[in-house]
Amino acid sequence: MNIDGKNTAVYLAKLGEIMLKGGNIKDFEQRLVQNAQLFLEGKHCKVLLRNGRMYIEGPLDCAQDIEYTLAHLVGITGWARARVVEKDMCAIKEAVVLEAEAAAKRGCKSFKIEGRRSDKSFPLTSYQIARDCGEVVYESGLLAVDVHNPDSLIMVEVRERCFVYGVQQSGNRGLPCGTGGKGLLLLSGGIDSPVAGYRMIRRGMKIDCLYFHSHPYTSPEARQKVETLAGILARYGMGTHLNVVPYTEVQQHIRDKAPVDWATVILRMCMMETANRLASLTGAKALITGESLGQVASQTVENLSVTNSRSKFPVLRPLIGMDKEEIVDTAKAIGTYETSILPFEDCCVLFSPRHPVLRADPEEAERIWTELNIEGLLDKAFEEREHTRIPIIRSL
Ligand code: ATP
Ligand code: MG
Repeated sequence: MNIDGKNTAVYLAKLGEIMLKGGNIKDFEQRLVQNAQLFLEGKHCKVLLRNGRMYIEGPLDCAQDIEYTLAHLVGITGWARARVVEKDMCAIKEAVVLEAEAAAKRGCKSFKIEGRRSDKSFPLTSYQIARDCGEVVYESGLLAVDVHNPDSLIMVEVRERCFVYGVQQSGNRGLPCGTGGKGLLLLSGGIDSPVAGYRMIRRGMKIDCLYFHSHPYTSPEARQKVETLAGILARYGMGTHLNVVPYTEVQQHIRDKAPVDWATVILRMCMMETANRLASLTGAKALITGESLGQVASQTVENLSVTNSRSKFPVLRPLIGMDKEEIVDTAKAIGTYETSILPFEDCCVLFSPRHPVLRADPEEAERIWTELNIEGLLDKAFEEREHTRIPIIRSL
């Protein structure tokens, strides 16, 4: 790679969990690079992996695209735009002072330098690099030293080339999307299920989305919300597919024929049936929902276990042990929150009983299910599904 750092923007990203992989680390690394390259397709950018770091380099006018890529790529713990300098202390100190100036302009008052020498042929140790660079910044009077809680941490890494950087962004962490098989996310317009999808993308899953629509009980805006949410997930998930299944007749049948307090549990069982059909067809190996234990009356272990009984695929519930505040924080961080809180109700709310069954008995559930005779309607709903492919989203 020819990095000169003058007419190019250079970024380095840190790999996290991938580094813990043993023999198959190459597969994970390869997928990470491939994903980054897919984000940057058509741009004149280079992506390279060396010694636990990923480098992306491109023309200055691609800086925004590279930053978008790093902000949405899964599998890196952090990233920074770096100055690339000669492996020479004069050049390094010059770059460090430039970083200190930039930090002072951002309003920082204090600094710390961290040196990292992985090129052992460089004559100074990590500590000596930090000490010498710290000295010039201290003497410049730009910032005060604070080794415990600095406003600005300036990094000097001497590796294949030498990198100096001052602003570090956190990454999405996790494992590269596509290394964890395919999952089918039951995506409603609420706060929880998009976060559940994001969490599984972070475990390397490629996800498809499934939404149950109950026109005219639910509005076109409710569906639009789900389309927007799927679009946001597609940024992290290297694209997705949105499947919309019309559930009006299924819901009406449940309302008319099932015991009132069982409506929610039975609806979940129906959703599992439909999701299983779709997963079998598309090669998904697991279903994903946004359920969290005890968050609403219907989400008890007993109810979840009855729901599971209609699924031959494992049902992954990554939010099961999270409280609402944590879920909301993630929703805000990934950009789904604003859409999720728009006031269009999804199908479950409209038909939910005031007092749902809290501890569904499996045998009773089975009896109600058989009496309901709903298979035909489920077949019909499945046949009438609509499908949209949402491609990789390369920039906002
Ligand atoms: P969310 O915030 O994700 O809507 P919720 O807290 O409102 O979840 P429920 O309404 O009980 O909880 O739904 C539980 C889960 O069932 C959702 O997280 C989602 O995975 C799935 N689900 C609910 N409604 C739909 C729908 N209309 N289409 C697809 N999946 C749905
Ligand atoms: Mg909901």
